[in-house]
Amino acid sequence: MSPIENKTTLKLGVLALQGAFLEHIHMLDNLPTVSEAIPVRNLEQLQSVDALIIPGGESTSMALIAERCGLLEPLREFVKTKPTWGTCAGMIMLANEATSAKKGGQQLIGGLAIRVNRNQFGTQKESFDTKLHMPKLVGETPFHAIFIRAPIITDVLSDDVKVVARLEQKVGQTEAETIVAVRQGHLFATAFHPELTYDNRLHSYFVDMALECHSNN
Ligand code: GLN
Repeated sequence: MSPIENKTTLKLGVLALQGAFLEHIHMLDNLPTVSEAIPVRNLEQLQSVDALIIPGGESTSMALIAERCGLLEPLREFVKTKPTWGTCAGMIMLANEATSAKKGGQQLIGGLAIRVNRNQFGTQKESFDTKLHMPKLVGETPFHAIFIRAPIITDVLSDDVKVVARLEQKVGQTEAETIVAVRQGHLFATAFHPELTYDNRLHSYFVDMALECHSNN
């Protein structure tokens, strides 16, 4: 029997090497399904959490820091079985393949069978916000999605990956219907930043998803 079976609350970790981790912790702190939300900076902390969020930031820096502090391989192991949500740079880290990667390539954690394109919409000043319909995840009210130097999902590389959100209108050169959120079993990824809103519906969705994954194990 799994030691986490029958849990009604989970201990959540947010990878805190770089980027917008505090905002995720604040969102999680307000959820009744979260017993504790901690920043994850070392192996001991990683091994203590039931589920993980990899935040937005800069995937090249995050990968470099993870490698230097010996967390890259443990993260690769973690995401094989434990519920993990990557937002923006976190989504790039979780992807199996990334285009427009740093010259010479960049390390990824991988696990999620998607190909992403980094910085799809251009630089910081091409950042934008839009409404996304994700009724199965958050109900009928659209979600206010903030995209900051965001990636998109250009290819889904396995039938196990379910598309959960698409852009609803053309943004610059990027067509409407472009994929911006997916789920593959215990892995979830969004190209935008839900932690920068006051809307915790996606955080609540992820924790419920994680609870479900744990009780099915
Ligand atoms: N452009 C960043 C990267 O490639 C992601 C930006 C973000 O997380 N807001 O890592």
